[in-house]
Amino acid sequence: MPTDLTAALARLQEDGLLRQRRITESAQGARVVIDGREYLSFASNDYLGLAAHPDIADAACEAARKFGIGVGASHLLTGHHALHDAFETAFARFVGLESALLFSTGYMANLGVITSLTGRHDAIFADRLNHASLVDAARLSGADHLRYPHNDLADLERRLAASNAATKLIVTDTVFSMDGDTARVPELLSLAEKYDAWLYLDDAHGFGVLGEHGQGILASCPLPLFHRLIYLATFGKAAGVAGAAVAGSTPLIEYLVNRARTWIYTTAQPPMLAAAALKSLELIVAGGARRDRLAMLIMHLRERARRLPWPLLDSSTPIQPLMVGDNTTALRLSQQLAERGIWLPAIRPPTVPEGTARLRISLSAAHSLEDIDRLCDALEAWA
Ligand SMILES: *Cc1c(COP(=O)(O)O)cnc(C)c1O
Repeated sequence: MPTDLTAALARLQEDGLLRQRRITESAQGARVVIDGREYLSFASNDYLGLAAHPDIADAACEAARKFGIGVGASHLLTGHHALHDAFETAFARFVGLESALLFSTGYMANLGVITSLTGRHDAIFADRLNHASLVDAARLSGADHLRYPHNDLADLERRLAASNAATKLIVTDTVFSMDGDTARVPELLSLAEKYDAWLYLDDAHGFGVLGEHGQGILASCPLPLFHRLIYLATFGKAAGVAGAAVAGSTPLIEYLVNRARTWIYTTAQPPMLAAAALKSLELIVAGGARRDRLAMLIMHLRERARRLPWPLLDSSTPIQPLMVGDNTTALRLSQQLAERGIWLPAIRPPTVPEGTARLRISLSAAHSLEDIDRLCDALEAWA
């Protein structure tokens, strides 16, 4: 740790890497007010446009009036509320697994689950592009952390075959957050079965978006499901709420109740959030039109972007990264868009590999065709 924090901050500033908070003054949506100015935003994970949905707000308010906000205790004392329980049951049924456990955030779920299942004599096999919370969880577990090249299942299989770890756990994002491509889940399931490993799927960007009813990545998997499958959905993205749930077999969930420290040693989330998430589940199930609209917007963007000098990465999800390459150009494009009232931050190293700075366009069912045209026109003007 640097001893002189002011000097460390000055160095970040010189290197163009200083991060600062911006203040959002509006609700989340296609248009947001940031630091006093309205922008057309392509920077949220609110893929279905549910974050400010009035029915979800009503459900939360009703629960808050009935039960208050604070639950006053952790789940194993008196904090496990009927609304948490109702949500866990509804969620497990929706994703087609036996049981579920609700966590306050996806980050806490990843830390809690992975450190409960693995320790010093075990091995974690992780896609190199996994989310930071999965990297941190693997480090905290003390297990060997073997990172395979992105989506390279031949490399993964060699590592699995060579391992004599007591417990093997394969961990992957389902939709990769900075690239928008997806993991090859059916093949991962076969590898897990073949090598007697657990498979942990972090569906933060897939839940609500993928599958006919928005049930996420598992919609595309052959049933019956593998008994060592662990599924994570987060509710701060497409679901438009907050929190996360892990689903799997009943023994897995009961084990986590006894072992997952980020679930045991923390105050349960306000029941109003579980009420909001229950309402969001209903809207997701009934959200076919939102998903169709999103697919149409994705097609339109990919068509329009062909005229740009920078390629879109190969993605069929709402995450559509425009590969700019050089940090300065990415930053300048982002600044020029902001001057025109369009919010689209540049993603630079170390978040992405050196030389792959990009504009991560994130689409939402709340966007219109005209919004996408406006973005593409602005990019073309600067090309
Ligand atoms: C956002 C995200 C998380 C963290 O979820 P939170 O609920 O925001 O803490 C975990 N994994 C992935 C892949 C994510 O994109």
